[in-house]
Amino acid sequence: MHADRHPPPACPTQEPRRPRRQKQPHSGARPKARKSSPFCGPIRAFSFGGGWQSTAALVLAAQGELDYRTFLFANVGDDSEHPATLRYIRDHAAPYAAAHGIELRQLSRTRRDGTTETLYGRLMREGSRSIPIPVRMSNGVPGTRSCTADFKIRVIGRWLKAHGAGPANPATIGIGISVDEIHRANNRRSEPYEHIVYPLLDLGIRRTDCPRIIRSADLPVPPKSACWFCPFHRLTAWQDMRHDQPDLFTRACHLEHTINTRRAALGKDPVYLTRYNAPLADVTPDIDPLPFDETDGTCDSGWCFT
Ligand code: SF4
Repeated sequence: MHADRHPPPACPTQEPRRPRRQKQPHSGARPKARKSSPFCGPIRAFSFGGGWQSTAALVLAAQGELDYRTFLFANVGDDSEHPATLRYIRDHAAPYAAAHGIELRQLSRTRRDGTTETLYGRLMREGSRSIPIPVRMSNGVPGTRSCTADFKIRVIGRWLKAHGAGPANPATIGIGISVDEIHRANNRRSEPYEHIVYPLLDLGIRRTDCPRIIRSADLPVPPKSACWFCPFHRLTAWQDMRHDQPDLFTRACHLEHTINTRRAALGKDPVYLTRYNAPLADVTPDIDPLPFDETDGTCDSGWCFT
């Protein structure tokens, strides 16, 4: 058998591939830029939302229970993600991933000119008419949203495609949905460049298992992850915010007021951040929060309740 004079090095799934030499152009014309993948095989990555399930998955990957070495966090904006989530990722999740040879990569939405666009920035943009978040209509029903698709799904999709994922070479994307949330699995159709899987379901992990898994790595349990202004928050979450982070609560009230001032100028009905058809400050109890935890109102899987 003919032996390769220069056999390729062993190539684990996510090791970068050496760039191949490009052919010399025939004339003096400049060679065309070629789209190539730095990965040697199909990409395997986990969608990281920064909450319980994602962090448990990170620990399981570090412990060899899950086969993922790349975690992708679509950051909708440093001014939009809950500050406690960003602090947790900076102080705990990122150092832990690095210490275990796992890449925890933050991605953000970029405009054509290369600048970063944040969700809060889009909401507050002067003269903006679009409301990308699921504000509540007068009957309490959430309006159409584009935030998840624009700031998470497409952001991760763009990165996957830039790294070689495509219909012929789809990336495997792990989503951190636990057994108690099984109804959320398969709610979003896969794009042609990806194959979505649910590794926590395969392991039979429930949301309530996550704190134990996270603590087993000597990590603190992360806070719930979602944008601080998300209209999917339960009333108790707003109550917590009013009590514990009054400045953030005031900003949320200001955002709601700004949206409605614009809508009034266009002759449109008001919309709200809660389902109670009244301003946030009027419906959120200004008393001590109740001593129990809500399990929803989070965006942990990185796909926002889809
Ligand atoms: S947490 Fe809420 S506001 Fe933020 S991206 Fe997800 S659905 Fe949209």
